[in-house]
Amino acid sequence: MNTCVHQKQFASDNYAGICPEALKALEKANSGHETSYGDDRWTKMACNKFREVFEADCEVFFVFNGTAANGLSLASLCQSYHSIICQRTAHVETDECGAPEFFSHGSKLLLADGENGKLDPCEMTRIVKKRTDIHYPKPRVASVTQATELGTVYSLAELRVIEKTAQGLNLKIHMDGARLANAIASLGCAPRETTVDVGVDVLCLGGPKNGLALGEAVIFFDLEAADEFAYRCKQAGQLAAKMRFIAAQWLGVLDKGIWLNYARHANSCAELLEKEIKKIPEIKLLYPRQANSVFVEMPEGLPEKLKAKGWKFYNFIGTGGARLMCSWDSSEESVKAIVADMKKSLKGLEKSRGLGRSPNSELQDYDK
Ligand SMILES: *Cc1c(COP(=O)(O)O)cnc(C)c1O
Repeated sequence: MNTCVHQKQFASDNYAGICPEALKALEKANSGHETSYGDDRWTKMACNKFREVFEADCEVFFVFNGTAANGLSLASLCQSYHSIICQRTAHVETDECGAPEFFSHGSKLLLADGENGKLDPCEMTRIVKKRTDIHYPKPRVASVTQATELGTVYSLAELRVIEKTAQGLNLKIHMDGARLANAIASLGCAPRETTVDVGVDVLCLGGPKNGLALGEAVIFFDLEAADEFAYRCKQAGQLAAKMRFIAAQWLGVLDKGIWLNYARHANSCAELLEKEIKKIPEIKLLYPRQANSVFVEMPEGLPEKLKAKGWKFYNFIGTGGARLMCSWDSSEESVKAIVADMKKSLKGLEKSRGLGRSPNSELQDYDK
């Protein structure tokens, strides 16, 4: 079945619908009555499937979204007087309305610099060593996003340096994996290599951007840190009565590596988009494209022209520029169509600018 659809949007992988395998799994789980609140066979099977996929003993919890997963898992690693080191463009800092601070009752996020959206290990050391007195919020966690908010991917070597640095500084490691599938597909590694093997204590694994309807899996590789986590979920309004419908979707996509196939597809659409944009000198690529998004700086007027043609994309994510995001069902056709519209709009822009300056000579050029 060809599931790729021509949509006029590169705004978000969250805009996409549910992939067929997740939908089928939902239907399958919709067979009669089951015990509620996670005590059902689908949830048990999904937890076991995660143990198999990550080749590790782990405690798994299902919550509704990424903000809850990050906020609650960070809170479980911290006391209220602790702090969390993250890169300054991290979702936990910029897009969660203070949820990590709220759920932890005050743990402070300490912002680190780092190129291309990645946490710089030297910054971790600098931030921890800067102060050791009682007036400073005690650093407790390093939070990394894989793939990053800027569409880059930490290499395994980079993650190993972060692990070693964290060990030396007595920091736990939290991974925001809203797009972990895209990172795994990009690295071509086993899921465990970019998580358990590099010392991740807790992973927040995103579903919707990978083709699920909703739901995030919070996976504790540090089993002790999972202690009483279920109470946090319940208190925060994150314990689904019909949890089987969050859990079952994962069974649909984790089977036979389907989640990674979709991620690979999204990545390759972004790769094609990158390749085509590289041929347009007026548009500048902002970061290395390593997952399913392309960040660009467009000449003045072009974003408006594209939006007027019906294209949707965001301008405010990261450090400026436009983000073009591909999803599990993006199509080559959409990629080619937006590139064609970029070229056409650029010609139109040059033409109108040209007309403003010297109408006659410029006009001739565009009649060719
Ligand atoms: C999308 C996303 C999340 C999850 O956001 P919710 O809207 O709360 O589900 C978390 N982290 C990153 C990096 C994201 O891109």
